[in-house]
Amino acid sequence: MSPSKPTAEKGSPPLPDYKTIAAQWAAAKRAKEAADAARKNEPISVAKGSTEQKQEQEREREQMSARERRRARLEASRKRAYQSRWAWTAAFWTWMLCMHAVGIAYFTSGFLLTRLVLEEKSACDAPPTASGGSGGSELELGSESSLLPPWEGKGTVDGGCWHPRTFDRAVVVVIDALRYDFAVPIGDGKAFHDAFPFLWETAVREPNKAFLRPFIADPPTSTLQRLKGLTTGTLPTFVDVGSSFSGTAIEEDNLLMQFKDAGKRIVHLGDDTWEALFPGYFEGNLSRPYDSFNVWDLHTVDNGVIEHVFPLMEKKNDWDVLIGHCLGVDHAGHRYGPNHPEMTKKLRQMDGFIRDLAATMDDKTVLIVMGDHGMDSKGDHGGESEDEVEAALWMYSPQGIFGRTKPEYATPPATAKSRPVNQIDLVPTLALLMGIPIPFNNLGRPIEEAFAGAAGNSWANLAAAERITAAGIKRYQTSYFAARGIEQSSEPGSPNDLWEKAEALVSRDTKQDWAAIFSSFAAYQEENLQKCKALWARFDLKNMIFGIGIMALGVVVLLVYISKGEDDDAIDDEELDLAEKSLELQGVKPDETATPDDILEKRLFSAALLGASPGFIGGVISSFVSGAGDWYRGSSIAALTSIAAVLVSMYEAQETVFKILPNTRWGWMAVIFTVSQSVGFASNSYTIWEDSILLFFITTFGFVSALSALQIPSRADRYLAIYHSVVFALLGRVASFSKLCREEQMPYCASTYYASATSSTSAPWQLIVPFLVSAILPSIIKAYLKPTRSYEGLAPTWIGYVFRAGLLVAALYWILDAADNGNWFPGLPDKLLKNISVYTAQMVLGLALIAGTTAFVWAPPCVSIVTSASPTDPNRAQIAIMGYANAHGARYLLLPLNLLVACILLSKPMGAGALGLMAWQVLALLEILDLNNLTTSPIGPVMLAILGTFHFFKTGHQAVLSSIQWDAAFIPLFTIRYPWSPIVVALNTFAGQILTAAAVPLLVLWKAGPKRKGVLEAVSRRALGAFVAYFAVESLCTMAWAGHLRRHLMLYRVFSPRFMTAAVVLLVVDVVGILLSLTGVRVNTMAIGEVFGWAE
Ligand SMILES: [Zn+2]
Repeated sequence: MSPSKPTAEKGSPPLPDYKTIAAQWAAAKRAKEAADAARKNEPISVAKGSTEQKQEQEREREQMSARERRRARLEASRKRAYQSRWAWTAAFWTWMLCMHAVGIAYFTSGFLLTRLVLEEKSACDAPPTASGGSGGSELELGSESSLLPPWEGKGTVDGGCWHPRTFDRAVVVVIDALRYDFAVPIGDGKAFHDAFPFLWETAVREPNKAFLRPFIADPPTSTLQRLKGLTTGTLPTFVDVGSSFSGTAIEEDNLLMQFKDAGKRIVHLGDDTWEALFPGYFEGNLSRPYDSFNVWDLHTVDNGVIEHVFPLMEKKNDWDVLIGHCLGVDHAGHRYGPNHPEMTKKLRQMDGFIRDLAATMDDKTVLIVMGDHGMDSKGDHGGESEDEVEAALWMYSPQGIFGRTKPEYATPPATAKSRPVNQIDLVPTLALLMGIPIPFNNLGRPIEEAFAGAAGNSWANLAAAERITAAGIKRYQTSYFAARGIEQSSEPGSPNDLWEKAEALVSRDTKQDWAAIFSSFAAYQEENLQKCKALWARFDLKNMIFGIGIMALGVVVLLVYISKGEDDDAIDDEELDLAEKSLELQGVKPDETATPDDILEKRLFSAALLGASPGFIGGVISSFVSGAGDWYRGSSIAALTSIAAVLVSMYEAQETVFKILPNTRWGWMAVIFTVSQSVGFASNSYTIWEDSILLFFITTFGFVSALSALQIPSRADRYLAIYHSVVFALLGRVASFSKLCREEQMPYCASTYYASATSSTSAPWQLIVPFLVSAILPSIIKAYLKPTRSYEGLAPTWIGYVFRAGLLVAALYWILDAADNGNWFPGLPDKLLKNISVYTAQMVLGLALIAGTTAFVWAPPCVSIVTSASPTDPNRAQIAIMGYANAHGARYLLLPLNLLVACILLSKPMGAGALGLMAWQVLALLEILDLNNLTTSPIGPVMLAILGTFHFFKTGHQAVLSSIQWDAAFIPLFTIRYPWSPIVVALNTFAGQILTAAAVPLLVLWKAGPKRKGVLEAVSRRALGAFVAYFAVESLCTMAWAGHLRRHLMLYRVFSPRFMTAAVVLLVVDVVGILLSLTGVRVNTMAIGEVFGWAE
């Protein structure tokens, strides 16, 4: 609809330009007022003489200009008031963000694994021996520290500190992400199988020279965490997983420290994570670190390692320990997924490399090849699924000292399920073989094959190695319990009890039963490891409850805040506005005009600051007095007092009593969706199948809204509402075709996001999807703008050309990427396609984000002014404003659309399709809400939040660490760059939630004319409030369930990752709400106000 606006004299031809529209609008209004005035004065002025008439006109002109000035003053004061209200609203939301951050941080501090790091270091001449005695046993350095008769050089590095030394030199090759099945003959024709046969072959052919075993990683399976475990021999703390982007030096006792203290020279080649963990450890002139995060680059690191390792093999006297870390297999997994020809090539290359390297070994050098972790079916890792933790370990030496204690062990295990070795077991094994002390914190045990002797019957040697390792563990345990002040238990079956039993076997003076001694110390080690895992998974309930409490109160504040918004419905009435304005012009102040002192958000924010101060000061003082430096506690107390003050201030405001519960069935529907979703997180199968449940909600909403549309009186509107409801539900079904399954959904789920379940590249047909989006989506958006005549102003150019071109170039990007990955044009120079595609991506992002933001800030409203002859008076022209009815919504729409282009580029081709469908669904939702008169109901924001979460799954994500598409960082960049790389990965991961958060203001602005009052309050209190509340409830519930189910078997597989996802999403939504939604509304309102005057 386009209401005819006041008539005016024929003006200059209209241009869709800011000033012209504003000028024409002003002229039209002036003309109407003049006409009104003229009509009133007509009878008098006719009777007057010509001079009087002139004076009269003069006076009138003066009155007019005085009125003009007053109006300008009024406009300016309204603008100032608006800006101040906006600032207080933004301050309120920033406070809310802080509360969420504190609640999450405090909960996390009590939830994540904690381990006290001990400072002690092992020494060569002080081997551990524990004498008998129950409880905290006394440690003494005994002469009987080894079960073996004294050997030459005992207690020195040359002879072997704690055990006779076997090797002078070690070459350790880490093949990042070498999963166990990559090294085992399978014969299923998969690209990642049977390409690396050397390890298996040698272990079978020359069992005395080589052995191969599954090598189980402790989660989290990130390289940084694994290297810590592989050198210290202890368990990871979960907190460290986030620091994977920037490694920090290891302070604990570790293998490399022991090598260095023993005077060994260490050379490092490859992944530079080592340099970050062990700064200053390596021979500077021989070592070659390489950047580890260029996932896109498969060859630089590997070629560097291979190029530099062989010359070093000819100069074995220059070094003692050589570490090579290859990244190609890992990167091939991240970039293509395991089932890709590039993976075969990479594994073949590694096969040849290890074959050649083994040939250069001598009797005094041991070669160790291992994976630090595995990879999941699409080539990623980080979590604790079986594929991610099952790596391979292979040891080789021409000396021929390796043995098998049983004949059936002659062949390596066929799968990683049988005879696995813990990764920490490498630590005592390598230490004892090289003659250095075992690091103090080690919890692992020696690997059997390395000490069993060539005949597999050196039980005395095995028992000695096992006992000295166990004694080290016992010493560590005693030290740890003393440091924490905990009593050790000695009940039957406890580690202490097992230790006593094992020691009793040793002290018996009869002929030693070495095999029994060996297995009883092994049993001690195993039980102790389990105890440690349980001990470090101990949770700080107090912190967790505090965190949950802060989050819960934050949710209450949000709910009360939303309920404030429901009564003062925004006014969209031209006449009322005119009446109000004329009152104001006469100096009467309508009492409902908010003066700056009377803003709810200001009151709340001031209360929040006031409330925070005692808690903050108290917290600072208490942490100062106690000396604990517990800043967490201070900030949490501040948060609690702050929230309490806000609640009191809300109660005092008394505009409404605390009426949180909804009063319509739509309101109840929003509550039921939110609550049932959040209660569902208590069940692991619900969490695993979340995407299907969200689809059910979407379909239900479509069904109910179609039914409710039957009550709409106007027939045209009724059919329209049913049509949009069907479209909304149907598009959800279509989007559900895009799927990325998590391990737990197997075998009842088939991934369609990539070419296959074992790939992370797109199938050729999927490349068409982004082209379809660019062909269809702009026309669909146009169809939604047309009915309100809002496809005016900048809209046709921006949506029809710029937006479409952006989508088209994004689609071209994925063709270039596929051509590069699939090597479609072998003749092209190396890296040419990569270069072109990166610049293409940068161009799209520049267009979408930089040009797009500029256009959004400067664009006039999407309206145009059409002049036509008035039907009543042919001498007068009639001016019609096209797009008047949706002036707010049509213009604001440009903001989410710009963001959409960026997100579509950064999601994979299937994700582009999903996001395109989501944009369509959002528009359908807006129409459904408008036609059913639901724009004030919380169902709108809640459905928007459900859409965003649903499309999080449809863009190839799951609530597990390994589903983060790190390779997205390399779409617009060649290397990791801060802060861009994390932003790009966030846009890829949370595209659904970010886009819907940016679309939240549309719930209010859609079909809102320029004279709509209270837009800001409606956006903040009703739309954004309910939208954020959905995510806050979700993160509160996942938090509570993760805390409640902290002993659940699936904690780290299901509940903890879901909590982390919900927490990050909440913070992202808060930030987007402030930086995009609220700021966007401000820019939009200023632009509308500039043209049509200030309604606010
Ligand atoms: Zn990796």
